[in-house]
Amino acid sequence: MAVIYERVALIGLGLIASSMAHAMRRRGLAGHIAGHARSAETREAVRRIGFADAVHDSAAEAVRDADLVVLAVPVGAMHAVAREIRPHLKPGATVTDVGSVKQAVIEAVGPHVPPGVHFVPSHPLAGTEHSGPYSGFATLFENRWWLLTPIDGTDPGATARLRRLYEGFGANVDEMDAPHHDLVLAVVSHTPHLIAYTMVGVADHLRRVSKSEVIKYSATGFRDFTRIAASDPTMWRDVFLTNKEATLDVLGRFTEELFVLQRAIRMGDGDQLHEYFTRTRDIRRGIIEAGQDTDAPDFGRARKEEA
Ligand code: NAP
Repeated sequence: MAVIYERVALIGLGLIASSMAHAMRRRGLAGHIAGHARSAETREAVRRIGFADAVHDSAAEAVRDADLVVLAVPVGAMHAVAREIRPHLKPGATVTDVGSVKQAVIEAVGPHVPPGVHFVPSHPLAGTEHSGPYSGFATLFENRWWLLTPIDGTDPGATARLRRLYEGFGANVDEMDAPHHDLVLAVVSHTPHLIAYTMVGVADHLRRVSKSEVIKYSATGFRDFTRIAASDPTMWRDVFLTNKEATLDVLGRFTEELFVLQRAIRMGDGDQLHEYFTRTRDIRRGIIEAGQDTDAPDFGRARKEEA
């Protein structure tokens, strides 16, 4: 494939940035990849792994001369990073981010993007429960959605070029406005994570008070919650602090549904439970038909992703 950006700077070098670097290298989409992470430990790890051509001690140095700057830090850190790199951005460059929440990032980063630099916010709907520079792999984005939430006045040429990069990763790209993005993600990602965290918390509490065999017998369903609840605490703290309204809205609806099912159980209303579970099963079928998961038993967990 042809080079899409001659010089790319990745700020934050964890799961998403390292996967982007592996994908850019494998498919020849970038001429030169520079990177920066907050800790000397991560920077040293990236030098050892070797997925970046240059690792810099400051974000300001990393973005110098970059045609594309990717902010791949937790949502709560976007503001400080954007403020730091502002004076060092090359005119004509594109700045994007990969944050899981879009309205808050646009508010945090937008004011720091100088005239003549394009800001195209984005979010890959791909991830794992692992984090850090060792966790990335080149195929993470294949057949996954990558959402762009361009803001008023964004140069369509800059948006189209970024779309080509993500399509080069094998991703499917869609555009939507930021408030809609945040609501959709509250339903498909943010609230499910909160529920998984809560369920694991409840089981943990029960284990402590009753010494029950939660771990030993976890393969019955609980284990699938624990995978989600093992996701990075900093990232998810920031998601809930910044996508507050939409998450609370969806959580309110969830609580209402929970009470409906609770009542059906209490009243012994088997028909209602059966009808409800039939509907939810159809959703699972739809996800498999859309190629967003496999119908292999156990979520295809035995499948090994290669780096
Ligand atoms: P990660 O693996 O935890 O990596 C985060 C990186 O950001 C690390 O290199 C960290 O450096 C760096 N960082 C943290 N605070 C910083 C700061 N104040 N200044 C500079 N660097 C800082 O995270 P990730 O999973 O790649 O997530 C990155 C972004 O992608 C987040 O905004 C997240 O919402 C979004 N996202 C994540 C997923 C997912 O499933 N994980 C999916 C889609 C989008 P140190 O290692 O030195 O601390």
